[in-house]
Amino acid sequence: MTGVPEPSQTFAKPGRLFVVSGPSGSGKSTLVARALADLPRPIHVSVSATTRPPRPGERHGIDYYFWTPDQFDQAIHNDQFIEWAHVHGHRYGSLRSEVEPYLAQGIDVLLEIDVQGADTVRRLYPQAKCIFVMAPSLADYEKRLRARGTESEESLQRRLQTAQYELQQAARYDCVIVNDDLERAAAALRACLSC
Ligand code: 5GP
Repeated sequence: MTGVPEPSQTFAKPGRLFVVSGPSGSGKSTLVARALADLPRPIHVSVSATTRPPRPGERHGIDYYFWTPDQFDQAIHNDQFIEWAHVHGHRYGSLRSEVEPYLAQGIDVLLEIDVQGADTVRRLYPQAKCIFVMAPSLADYEKRLRARGTESEESLQRRLQTAQYELQQAARYDCVIVNDDLERAAAALRACLSC
């Protein structure tokens, strides 16, 4: 869902916070979109800010807020992030404005962030439910990243190296989903988001 909630939308309870992490090439964005399409309640998917340049087809304000390093520095200075991290050579951060107004209005929020960001969120929001998405094997990450065709060889190798570290963090998550079949994995994610 999009749009900051209107003040008139009041709910009894604060919304719940969900974190979805997983190595590049785990198919987590597609999986999240598929799972949310069939979820009976709205969940706001937080739009992060990043210093990474947009890929073809990516839109500012939809996929990310694509900021210059100076804009990102300014946002850190202004305490606009609940967390931010260096990932694959760029900076990414979750904005307070994408999280706090929604939770306050009783709307659940989902953050698609890396394992460092998940650590910060666990400290700030101990009730957050953290979900890890992985591909069936290490070879699948490379296959999926190459098929996506969005990364240079250097970026692809960097992402594969990071994947090995990220996979070691899976045991720290509340739910682990193996994304071997989209429909099955989407059903598993919906179950995690519903309990
Ligand atoms: P990509 O460049 O493929 O869109 O994302 C690279 C990585 O950055 C992914 O693991 C993604 O989950 C993570 N990421 C995206 N937004 C954020 C954020 O706001 N904070 C953190 N810590 N990681 C993020």
